[in-house]
Amino acid sequence: MKIAFIAHDRKKDLMVQLVTAYQPLLKNHELFATGTTGQRISEATGLKVHRFKSGPLGGDQQIGALISEDELDLVIFLRDPLSSQPHEPDVNALIRLSDVYNVPLATNLGTAEILIRGLAEGLLDFRQIIDDAPKKSISFDL
Ligand code: PGA
Repeated sequence: MKIAFIAHDRKKDLMVQLVTAYQPLLKNHELFATGTTGQRISEATGLKVHRFKSGPLGGDQQIGALISEDELDLVIFLRDPLSSQPHEPDVNALIRLSDVYNVPLATNLGTAEILIRGLAEGLLDFRQIIDDAPKKSISFDL
């Protein structure tokens, strides 16, 4: 799977903790990130991360372009809800594109962990679910 990571400045330590915690799982996937976030992740974990420009310099838009090309499966975007960002329009555009293309996107740690665990269990096959939706319902072992 192709996974993108973006963290606003006050969320970067948290992002490093998240990726470190799930490193054994994430090392089996293709990782992308905005510039500084990617640098922090690869310095802390040694994981190979394809880095785009820094968010305020267009990195969010580069990740949005990947979404529009159907080249991303999951986005972990740890936003800082308590500070305004100079590139707020780019942030909104990225989230909008994930909605347009039904790409799972987490904007906080709780959702991020659930999505990463879903990835571990092969539960992010939602495109297949969409394709099969008219034909079958999903059963659960409760
Ligand atoms: P950065 O960009 O990883 O380069 O800091 C993140 C952002 O603020 O969008």
